[in-house]
Amino acid sequence: MERLDRFMARANAAYYATHDPFRDFTTAPEISQAFGEVLGAWAAVTWAAMGRPDPVVLAELGPGRGTLMTDARRAIRAVAPDLAAALSLHLVETSPRLRACQQGLAPATWHDEVATLPPGPMILLANEFLDALPIRQFVRRGEGWMERFVADGRFVEQPAALDADGPDGAVLERQEAAETCTGQIARHLATHGGAALFLDYGASESGLADTLQAIRGGDPADPLADPGAADLTAHVDFAGLGRVANAAGAGVHGPVPQGVFLSRLGLFQRTDRLARGRSPGQAGALIAAAQRLAEPMHMGRLFKAMALAHPDLPTPAGFDA
Ligand code: SAH
Repeated sequence: MERLDRFMARANAAYYATHDPFRDFTTAPEISQAFGEVLGAWAAVTWAAMGRPDPVVLAELGPGRGTLMTDARRAIRAVAPDLAAALSLHLVETSPRLRACQQGLAPATWHDEVATLPPGPMILLANEFLDALPIRQFVRRGEGWMERFVADGRFVEQPAALDADGPDGAVLERQEAAETCTGQIARHLATHGGAALFLDYGASESGLADTLQAIRGGDPADPLADPGAADLTAHVDFAGLGRVANAAGAGVHGPVPQGVFLSRLGLFQRTDRLARGRSPGQAGALIAAAQRLAEPMHMGRLFKAMALAHPDLPTPAGFDA
């Protein structure tokens, strides 16, 4: 019998060590190069607001294939060559297989965890990272709560001491790993200066829901069936992470829907530039990709952007109404 978060950590470590996740699911940077480019532009604007520190750490959590950072760095070289010269790249990645995919980003320093990022001013990017971190789940039974453990591919419930309200059968999730990570980053930013940008799927407000999901071979699967064969994720509770970051001394901005954030940062202007001079077919594909990222019926609403920043920094780009 294994607590759900320990099961999820073990299953995902095995999954990311043995699979090319991008055969199972597609992430925003893989949909359009404009995604990473506008995040690079965000980093450049943020760096200017920080007073152009040199040196500065540019960090990414869970870089996957390295596509986001490749596109972001191209944009940074174009719009802020001084930042390109001042930055040192730090990547937090546990999968040896994905680290190998990220070698094209060298020179860079790889880390197993956020705790070893070097001190100093920092700009941090993380797309679809927090959703992969392990969660705990509790189920309301009568007057109390039971915690979910996994045994032989099924949930087993054990009594838990939990002070929360909820109707019978309700599921309450705890994102302790994401809270630890967010708290560490918030403390870093409050101490050394800088800003972090998280993009992920989840709700703006905390609520009761079972959001654990598994994707195997591109299709939904049983999360408990075959640990290591499927990608396990849960929705991010942005409000909960915002409270943790705030308590750790950082300013919290958003969350705002991804479509709103990307549109404010010029996703469609950048896409028009990329489409210029291309064949009608290529131009149409670029515009369709941007729409997939930004439109509410696709990724524009379920996905959110949230920024943490040193409390003295002005509201980061894309977060002012
Ligand atoms: N950001 C990329 C990849 C998202 S997939 C993109 O948008 O395409 C999740 C990434 O986080 C993978 O690179 C995975 O190996 C990494 N990852 C998952 N759990 C992690 C953990 N606990 N510590 C560090 N990296 C982790």
